[in-house]
Amino acid sequence: MRIEEDIKLDFKDVLIRPKRSTLRSRKDVDITRSFTFKWSGRKYDGVPIIAANMDSVGTISMAQSFIKLKTGMSVALHKHYHIDKLNEFYDKYGGQSVWYSIGMVKDDQEKLDSFVKERPSVIEKLCVDVANGYSEHFVDFVKSIRDKFPDITIMAGNVVTGEMVEELILSGVDVVKVGIGPGSVCTTRKMTGVGYPQLSAIIECADAAHGLGGLICADGGCTVPGDIAKAFGAGADFVMLGGMLAGHDQSEMEIIEENGNKYMIFYGMSSDTAMKKHKGGVAGYRASEGKTVKIAYRGDISQTLQDILGGVRSACTYVGATKLKELSKRMTFIRVTQQINTVFGND
Ligand code: 5GP
Repeated sequence: MRIEEDIKLDFKDVLIRPKRSTLRSRKDVDITRSFTFKWSGRKYDGVPIIAANMDSVGTISMAQSFIKLKTGMSVALHKHYHIDKLNEFYDKYGGQSVWYSIGMVKDDQEKLDSFVKERPSVIEKLCVDVANGYSEHFVDFVKSIRDKFPDITIMAGNVVTGEMVEELILSGVDVVKVGIGPGSVCTTRKMTGVGYPQLSAIIECADAAHGLGGLICADGGCTVPGDIAKAFGAGADFVMLGGMLAGHDQSEMEIIEENGNKYMIFYGMSSDTAMKKHKGGVAGYRASEGKTVKIAYRGDISQTLQDILGGVRSACTYVGATKLKELSKRMTFIRVTQQINTVFGND
């Protein structure tokens, strides 16, 4: 047994130190990034915020709204769409603004294979998602996907430590997804005791990835736009959001009315609810590692997106970053014991 004594931090443990700036307004800030992915060689130009591949967030409606509103953001489409639905979307819109998601199960691979056979070059980006990215089996799986699809951009995870980021990048991953346990509907830390404070995970994993010409996507734990700014400031190339985008018209979920108030159900992808819906139940050998919550219905996504993008832009102006790329270079975090004044509640 060993104990690591150095302090690991979460978003709630820090604030961003403001710096002198020549920027006049948040309008002058460019929050797009351009990347050339290490393995696929493809170019990316956009706002590097991704809707998570959860079945009420990574939806086709969400992708259509992102495209319509010209946000520049992308959506990791959840893996439970029928192949015909996916086909219809990729016809119409191509693959630029979405990530096609798979897990390690055979069904996902068969669906991907038949999709690629039918539409050979339409998938540009893949999101390979498992709860625990530490298994050798996962590394082998990622290698086989890279061999099969040399020119598709692969994002894969999740992991939280530098050595595993390196192993995944050397195995053909372009973007390593970082985060174990920080998610809004995740119960992994409670059920298993496993996890890593997300801000430190981002800082350490970004360092490991960038050293090898790879990228990371900070996945989970953002609760407000300021957390997204902190994630970029800590070195994340992409940030993935679940809960912050849940509960909207784009969720493709039923609206529940109770005493004149409107709600939606939001759940983790390994919760009882998700497993019952997609797999007919929770397999006997595993525990659910996600929760189900009832959240206030929030209407159309456009106002939420404006708040998110406005918040990130504003963070850039506070530290004098003209471009999102400069944010991490200009970032000084201050350790704090309090984030906000709660006299009128926690909002
Ligand atoms: P959020 O932005 O809601 O804090 O986090 C979103 C992330 O939580 C997802 O991208 C995914 O990595 C993770 N996640 C989603 N569902 C589950 C679940 O059921 N269990 C766990 N452990 N993580 C989940």
